[in-house]
Amino acid sequence: MPNTFAEIQNEMRNIAKELLESGEATMVIGWEKGALPYQSTPVMIRSAEDVDKLIWDEYCQQNLSTYLIDYIYTDEKVAIFAKGCDTRAYNRLIQDNRIKAEKSIVIGVPCLGMKNAREAAKLPEGAEVPMANACKECRYPNPVTFDRKIGEDVTPWCTERDFSDVEAIEALSADEKYAFWQSQYTKCIRCYACRNICPACNCTSCIFDQSASGWCSKDVNASENQFYGVTRAFHVAGRCIECGQCEMVCPSEVPIMLMNKKFIKDIDSLFGAHEAGIDIDTPAPLSHFSVSDPEEFM
Ligand code: SF4
Ligand code: SF4
Ligand code: SF4
Repeated sequence: MPNTFAEIQNEMRNIAKELLESGEATMVIGWEKGALPYQSTPVMIRSAEDVDKLIWDEYCQQNLSTYLIDYIYTDEKVAIFAKGCDTRAYNRLIQDNRIKAEKSIVIGVPCLGMKNAREAAKLPEGAEVPMANACKECRYPNPVTFDRKIGEDVTPWCTERDFSDVEAIEALSADEKYAFWQSQYTKCIRCYACRNICPACNCTSCIFDQSASGWCSKDVNASENQFYGVTRAFHVAGRCIECGQCEMVCPSEVPIMLMNKKFIKDIDSLFGAHEAGIDIDTPAPLSHFSVSDPEEFM
């Protein structure tokens, strides 16, 4: 069983070649090396001749399931490599009817935790790079669903979430909380990177692209930015799979996961403990609807 980065990478290339040559997949999505040592970025491979672009290293954090949305209405059959968080996102997208299982092939890859690319960019060359924040609290490094799998499962290093950062904010007064979030969202430049990378932020039409609706404007200021941040947190509530990608890509270092974790904590206490995306059968709180839902006017 391949287990080192090099062995798994080699097996990834073999599988990608096999899928493309046989025509079983029209495209394979994996990671390739970026311009800098701490950058590994998504790559779409369509030809067996290009499979050597595929890499597997400690910076392959970006969630690949999100890209499947673009191919739901095409004739493509797309294979993706998927860590635990990618497979949780995959399940969530199936539940949201945003992708179809029959149009994709999931090749599971156990994950040892990715390094923090943001911190790596600030550290001197050769310095020890810490684990990415979301990975420190990851309870599902092994794929939770797959068609094929590479490597042996790893032992999860975290068994429960640490809400101490959320509790520290909860302990503040209302004015202090407002001041904290205002200071954070004043930095936001409304680039929407956090929305665009997020597998839970998958609406076909986003409220923040509908400025004529009157609900929100394109203004970049503390008030509009906070409205954006809180609204986005509500829209992913119960569906966030805690991959931490939103926070990782934020150029302004807004602590987006703090807000997500507050929602997760509240959902757990209101609806019972919920882990988004670990299967496709458990209904997600706040986004599952049934004809038996109590609603007097219906
Ligand atoms: S969240 Fe988990 S599965 Fe995803 S990159 Fe981090 S450790 Fe790996
Ligand atoms: S809100 Fe952030 S952590 Fe949650 S699924 Fe989206 S990108 Fe991942
Ligand atoms: S990624 Fe950061 S700066 Fe960009 S919209 Fe999101 S919170 Fe604002």
